[in-house]
Amino acid sequence: MPPRITNCHVHTFTHDHVPDRFLPFPLGSLLRFGPLRRGLLAVVQHFDRGRRSRLARYAKILQVSFGLSQEDVFKKVRNFYPRGTRFVVLPMDMEHMGAGRVTKLIGEQHAELKELRERDEYRELVIPFAAVDARQENVVEKTKHLLENDGFRGIKLYPPIGYHPYDPALRPLYSYAAERGVPVMTHCSRPAGVQYRGKPTKRMLTDPVTGKPLRMGRKELLTLFTDPDSYVPILEAYPTLRICLAHFGGAGDWKTYLERPWDPISDTGAKSWLAKIMDMLRLDAYENLYTDISYTVFADEEYVHLLKVLLSDGRVRRRVLFGSDFYVVESAGLEEKRISLRVRSVLGEDLFRTIAHDNPKDYLGEA
Ligand SMILES: [Zn+2]
Repeated sequence: MPPRITNCHVHTFTHDHVPDRFLPFPLGSLLRFGPLRRGLLAVVQHFDRGRRSRLARYAKILQVSFGLSQEDVFKKVRNFYPRGTRFVVLPMDMEHMGAGRVTKLIGEQHAELKELRERDEYRELVIPFAAVDARQENVVEKTKHLLENDGFRGIKLYPPIGYHPYDPALRPLYSYAAERGVPVMTHCSRPAGVQYRGKPTKRMLTDPVTGKPLRMGRKELLTLFTDPDSYVPILEAYPTLRICLAHFGGAGDWKTYLERPWDPISDTGAKSWLAKIMDMLRLDAYENLYTDISYTVFADEEYVHLLKVLLSDGRVRRRVLFGSDFYVVESAGLEEKRISLRVRSVLGEDLFRTIAHDNPKDYLGEA
């Protein structure tokens, strides 16, 4: 029997969930007009190739989701996969990124997702996670409500939008999730298009472990929030928590790993995040740590070969999840169906089953 695939990382948010100053005025407003949009999108995509600029990101969001519902976007991704494939759907809370107001707040985005999952045709296919932000009011109560009453199955973090993953406001959620077997998914590749735009606040500039001030600029700070090392306090404090560092360090760090020589023994800040995550996966102490191949392996066709070699280590093989990051792999030359087939073909049925069927079941707590 072919495996029942679980794609552990997709998005269905629409442009209504994106803040109004995501692009500088008047570009954002211009792109909302149909005829202008199509022309501009073509130009933007032509010139952006792989740079993941803010403009290209926004163009992709408009292209896929303008005037559509989360259900419409979900149907698009569903139709790229065999019937019965399940999808972990990850909402995005962009309200606190310092880019203006969103048409629909995160509460509404969650409500739409709850409704989607409750339809008979999607009940088995949609696995919604709750988007948390350390700055959301009553984040602990709201998230528990979604998990206990609304069919949400996990917690989604996006630290480059302006908070440290070990922010004290989130710790009660980690202990709750560890106790109940609720999985956590977090964004782990260097900050790019979607990131905090404002001036770092005192809260952001306080080391969550020592309480001491952090002296650095915004870019360095957001990189710190996203660095695999920033999860060490969480892994130490909640060893039973299943947590996935999404994107396996990111496409840029896969490139560095391949192109720059480095000494695996020396402990330097220049170490590729791919290498950091590999080291963490090999530690017996972090047996509930996972990573996913979303975005990264979809960004360049040569990466699937590196992936196959990395999976030759049994400790790594057990903790890698199949995911695509639909639909934010903008201007990557490869499309959803083409690359997911390529991953399956290069890895072979056994390895593919491990990352697309067995590991997702473990991660979601179904095994
Ligand atoms: Zn994503």
